[in-house]
Amino acid sequence: SPNQIAARHVIPTRGPAETLAEAAAWFAAQPPLRALGIASFGPVELDRGCANWGRITTTPKPGWAQCDIVGHFARALGVPVGFDTDVNGAALAEHELGAGKGLSSLAYVTVGTGIGGGLVSEGRVIHGAAHPEIGHIFPRRPPGDAEFAGTCPHHGDCLEGLASGPAIEARWGASLSRLPADHPAHGVVADYLGQLCHTIFATTASEIVVLGGGVMQTPGLIERVRARCAELGAGYLPASARHRVVLPGLGQNSGICGAMLLGANALRPTPAG
Ligand code: ZN
Repeated sequence: SPNQIAARHVIPTRGPAETLAEAAAWFAAQPPLRALGIASFGPVELDRGCANWGRITTTPKPGWAQCDIVGHFARALGVPVGFDTDVNGAALAEHELGAGKGLSSLAYVTVGTGIGGGLVSEGRVIHGAAHPEIGHIFPRRPPGDAEFAGTCPHHGDCLEGLASGPAIEARWGASLSRLPADHPAHGVVADYLGQLCHTIFATTASEIVVLGGGVMQTPGLIERVRARCAELGAGYLPASARHRVVLPGLGQNSGICGAMLLGANALRPTPAG
């Protein structure tokens, strides 16, 4: 079952050859697998009609650009492999097993070392031209935070450049959970994430936004984001009473459960992941 974790093993990320070989060796030593699911960091190629399907595309991580992740495991383990981004996997898991169980639509966004999100609509993960990169939208700057240039190497003050863990550390010198409860950083970050949730509700009509990642473990943040989102929406959006902003129902396991669902989907005749 895709929410039963029988064993857990963490391998530090190094170059692709040694990291993937160590991962494949670990799986090979487990009881026989029927399928493998991979919820990968991105950007990745998700178009099954494309020769590069299952590969990392461009990445600053040394050696990982064009790495054929799916091909490596398919050859090493000889089982069907399901593949998607880490956040699409987490969105799928929260939809099937977690906070969005029983709903038709959901957005999952992780707020941590970066900001990234995945969408499920009518029960399917949205791919489009590649996959969403919702962390790189441009929010309105709240009062008191107009000066900070932002940390995104591509855009400066996009959402990730303003509200990710590294962006918080860069201007306030500590993680959000280490800053005092009355520090203005809490209101600023909640404003940005409230804008994000409003934007998701307004553009996707998702019923629920699930916010995961390290920054969201800050006590009180989810309540602040929820309140700010409601304030910004001003009750205008259709069915706004049904909109909910919540923490992951699967806790820290959304991504892992997502990978297991992708593996299960790989056993179907037409993979849905
Ligand atoms: Zn950016």
